[in-house]
Amino acid sequence: MKQQVFEECPKCGNVNVQQLDENSWFCLDCDWDNLTEIATGNDELLTSLLHGDIHSRRIAAQSLINIGDVDRHLASPTDIEAMLKALNDEDADVRYFVAVALGKLNARDCLKRLKQLAQDDVSALVREGAQTAIQQIEAHVEKE
Ligand SMILES: [Zn+2]
Repeated sequence: MKQQVFEECPKCGNVNVQQLDENSWFCLDCDWDNLTEIATGNDELLTSLLHGDIHSRRIAAQSLINIGDVDRHLASPTDIEAMLKALNDEDADVRYFVAVALGKLNARDCLKRLKQLAQDDVSALVREGAQTAIQQIEAHVEKE
């Protein structure tokens, strides 16, 4: 199989495209990705998120943020407990996706943990993702 290389995002044209593994790419600026391999049920998704190998943990975490894509399994508020555990994953990509997904879920109970990540995580990507999530959640709080 020929390896695909994306130098820019086919959807928004930005160059913030990241490679997960050989043929898996996603855009940091919009929701674009070329991932097709996603678990079939939420339970399965959360199981791979917490217990899979590094590839399946990344795929599972990434699929949590495809809000609006009905064929995929998205995070729902009942997943938050598992997602909080996944914020401790040793892999920065996993922590990043989970943080972003928590922001999209408006998971206000996770604010404290997200603020910790935004400050202390070793990965700049994760700190940025957590910061985005915090802003999203706090914007909701202000509207109420
Ligand atoms: Zn994009």
